[in-house]
Amino acid sequence: VEFEHCNLPPTIGANLKKAGYEAPTPVQMQMVPVGLSGRDVIASADTGSGKTVAFLLPVVVQALKHQRRVEGCPGGPTALVLTPTRELAIQIERQVKELVVGVANMRTALLVGGMPLPQQLHRLKRTNKIIIATPGRLLEILKQKAVQLDGVRVVVVDEADTMLKMGFQQQVLEVLEHVPDEHQTLLTSATIPKSTEQLAARLTQDPVRITI
Ligand code: AMP
Repeated sequence: VEFEHCNLPPTIGANLKKAGYEAPTPVQMQMVPVGLSGRDVIASADTGSGKTVAFLLPVVVQALKHQRRVEGCPGGPTALVLTPTRELAIQIERQVKELVVGVANMRTALLVGGMPLPQQLHRLKRTNKIIIATPGRLLEILKQKAVQLDGVRVVVVDEADTMLKMGFQQQVLEVLEHVPDEHQTLLTSATIPKSTEQLAARLTQDPVRITI
């Protein structure tokens, strides 16, 4: 599978080239078509494999598609990426921005701990489509009712094993209570021990498993 065969919006295809991503990595080859099909995914893939672009391409395309469909939450987020650390969140936002240059209505909101809350709340007031968050900060913002996740139709749980190691399981589950049941889930994890498998089973429906 080449990026050209994935039926991506032309602007995004061009952005991939501009970023120097000529050929998909193995995890991208497997995950992009499945993610675009709307199926849930459990991918065992580590940092360095290209996993971020692998989940972001489906996320961006699904977010664009759902923006037109989701009613009751106009302008609200349609995609949510949960990741365990601020550093990962910042990298993910950078990659989203690289992929969506020239694509209309694709804003991001970065909601992470250890950075000032007021700025993050300010960005949420503008219409935005993709939230990239660490679980604790997003929960804090949800409790203040400063964001609604009713429009979210695609969720990424990045580095699920790290989430567990850092003790974020409960927070992840609590965040997802704010997301409507009918959504697609893309989960990544470097390794999938039993604890991660159990979390993955709770978060996904009829998932396609990807191992590289
Ligand atoms: P990740 O595994 O998501 O942390 O990505 C590791 C690095 O690979 C990042 O710096 C990406 O910019 C880069 N990368 C992702 N996909 C590709 C690709 N298809 N070709 C070349 N580099 C890539």
